[in-house]
Formats: sequence, structure tokens, C-alpha cells
Amino acid sequence: MNTLSQRDQAVIWHPFTQMQTAPAPIPVVRGEGSVLYLEDGREMLDMISSWWVNLHGHSHPYIADRVAAQLRTLEHTIFADFTHEPAVQLAERLLPILPTNQRRIFYSDNGSTAVEVALKMAFQYWHNIGQPRLKVVAFEDAYHGDTFGAMAVGGRSAFTAPFAPFLFNVTYLPVPVPGREAEVLELAQTLFTDEVAAFIVEPLVQGAGGMNMYEPAALNELFALARTHGTLLIADEVMTGFGRTGKLFASHYLTEQPDLMCLSKGITGGTMALGVTTCTAAIYDAFLSTDKMKTLFHGHSFTANPIACAAALASMDLLLDEDRLADIQRIITRHTAFADRLRQSPVVGNIRQRGTLLAFDLITNGQTSYFNNIRDVAYQFLLEKGVLMRPLGNVLYFMPPYCTTNTQLQVAYDAVLALLTKLED
Ligand SMILES: *Cc1c(COP(=O)(O)O)cnc(C)c1O
Repeated sequence: MNTLSQRDQAVIWHPFTQMQTAPAPIPVVRGEGSVLYLEDGREMLDMISSWWVNLHGHSHPYIADRVAAQLRTLEHTIFADFTHEPAVQLAERLLPILPTNQRRIFYSDNGSTAVEVALKMAFQYWHNIGQPRLKVVAFEDAYHGDTFGAMAVGGRSAFTAPFAPFLFNVTYLPVPVPGREAEVLELAQTLFTDEVAAFIVEPLVQGAGGMNMYEPAALNELFALARTHGTLLIADEVMTGFGRTGKLFASHYLTEQPDLMCLSKGITGGTMALGVTTCTAAIYDAFLSTDKMKTLFHGHSFTANPIACAAALASMDLLLDEDRLADIQRIITRHTAFADRLRQSPVVGNIRQRGTLLAFDLITNGQTSYFNNIRDVAYQFLLEKGVLMRPLGNVLYFMPPYCTTNTQLQVAYDAVLALLTKLED
């Protein structure tokens, strides 16, 4: 009998994985709270919320019950010309917690599609009002997903290199990280013109680009400047949404409201795939016409899947509970204290925190051979300690589910301290 991992290796191609050199995949048999239970009996503390999607812990019984009930009622239906309770209720409950100018919910089924839809809404908005605009501004090192439009507005890197000839042109602004704000704003003065259709950002925290963090004041200024040219502002909150930054949405730190928002990942508590693009009345209205050519011709087979919407409604119940807000605050306080401890390490630099997201760089200009492949060394070391953290290059970060206990946080912190001790040698 072949093991699960051997069977996998015979038939599966994994995401973001060099299949020739990748170690055998680790079979997970069960999840509960912040712990993944492995086939070999080990436990793995999930400090990255399983690729940033999980909010309330794995296999949450409340979400499971709601999903099971929905499965027995209506598993799926076409969403053109038809509707259903979970989709309407989710839209009704989302809009009041979003920035006050958001008026409409458009469903898709993942973060990349949520971004594609936002870009198409933005481009077609200008087309529909008869003033086509062709330019887009984005941040360097941005990550907005892996489909072509989403890749095009992402920072260009080794990941996008094979596709470079197929990606539409985008103008990049450096991220206004602390100390660079004035320089970025000055550059922005020349980049933002009446030709820019949209400015897309991951507000306050760039995820995949390395957990780069910047201040609300800097983004407010850029948004305000872009807006003087009528440019549509797209907040990609696929990662930052649903409490990660300490507020329900990173956009709530801003006084300038985005015109379009992209949501996914945590929206279902990490249970099901669901994407949402939201927009203002002005954008929605630009598609209303007796002229069929002004229609947004976009949709996916699993648009507004009722089971995914049911999972999202259940997750929202859990998220808006007072105890959850207390959990988020508890994690923030713990992280802040641990950040102070990290400051004492000579191999740690650029410690940064926004809400429940804590990140730092492992300094790589040391002398030992570890530093040549520090990412792999750190990753494997932590896995062996039973802690799942997946460094982005030399950047280590915590993105725990909100149910993570203080004891579990301490286990993860201690594993990181052990790693630092090893690297300091
Ligand atoms: C993950 C991510 C996406 C893409 O979402 P997928 O569901 O993986 O397609 C888009 N934007 C941001 C900011 C993300 O972190």
C-alpha cells in the first residue's frame, strides 16, 4: 500500500511548488481550532491561518452546522435571473460594515476573480460614461492574485516573468513605507493624471509582497491626490479584511473611502471559496442603461454559491461577537509584547505590526551557511517544532486564527526564539 503522500506524488501538481525538488507533501487528517493533526500523529500549530483564510479555527462546529443545513436545503443555483436567501442576507449584512459609500455586492468565487471584477468594473465605468481611460497605477511589490488581470496589476517579479509579454501596462509607485512617504507622494504628483482609470492597493499591509506595512496617513494622501483626477480607488482587502488589521477592514483606518473593494479569503472563515467585489452607487449607476452594451458581462458558474454564502454568514456571526473582538485585542497585545522581545535579537530587523499581523525580517548578511537558504531553514526548523509558518523569503510573520490561545501563541513565539538562537550562533 502506498502512503497518501506517495499517491499524491504520483498524480498531483501543487501550487507555488517546484515539483522536482519539493519534499513529500505532509498529509493532514483533521483540523480543530488552530491545530492541524497530521497522519503521522504529530500536531501542527497553524500560525498562517492556512494561507490567510482561516479566522475562527479549523472545522468550526458552528460553521459546519450552518453549511450542512444549507447543503440539505439548496446546494447551488444559477445566479443570473435567480436569487436566494444566503446571497441576499450576506449582502445585506456586509454593506453596513463596509465603508459607508459601498452600495452593491457582486459575487465571484476567489480573491483573484474579485480583483478581475473590480478592474473590469473600473475600466468599463470609464467606457460606459464615454470617457475611456487606459492607465492603472499600482504599488511595487503588490500581490493581487494569479489570473492575468490580477497578475498585471501585481508587482513584476520572477513569478510573473514568463507572462510579462501578456500583461497590460501598469505604472508603479513605491510603497510609502515609514520614511519614504514624502518621496512617494512627490512621485505620485506626476503619475496621477486625468488618464488614470484606477489606483489599486492592498491597504496598509502588502501580503505576499513581504508583509510590507505603511501608515493610513500616507494612503489617505495618495487616495486624495488620485481622487482629484477622478481616478477610481480599489482597495484589495482579500487578505486584510475581516479583522486581521485590528479593525474589520483596513479601509476603516482611512478617511478617504475606496470606490471598489475586493474581499475573499477570510470571508467564509476559511471554509469555502467565495469572492466579493463591492462598489459605490456612482459606479453601479454607470452600468444602468437601456443599452445592453453597458452591461457588466461577467459571471462565474459558482457565483454566490449558497453554501459559501452560508459559511460566510456563520463566520460573520462569530466575527461580530464581542468575544471575538476581545480575542483580536488579546492577540494584538501579545504580539506587541513579543515584538519587544524580538527587538533584542541581532538577527531580527524591521519589526512591524498591524493588528493581528506581526512580521519581521531575518537578517541575512550574517556569516553562517544557514543564511544562504534562510527561508528553507526557518520553514523546516519551525515545522519540526510543530509550528506552521511559511516565510516569504527572509520575512517571518504571524497571522493566527483568532481562536489561538495564549498558550498556543507562546508555543509559536518560543519556536521562533529557538530559531533565532540557532541563527545567532
Ligand atoms: C490571496 C490574495 C489574492 C488572491 O486571492 P485568491 O483567492 O488566492 O485568488 C488577491 N489579493 C490579495 C491581497 C491576496 O492576498
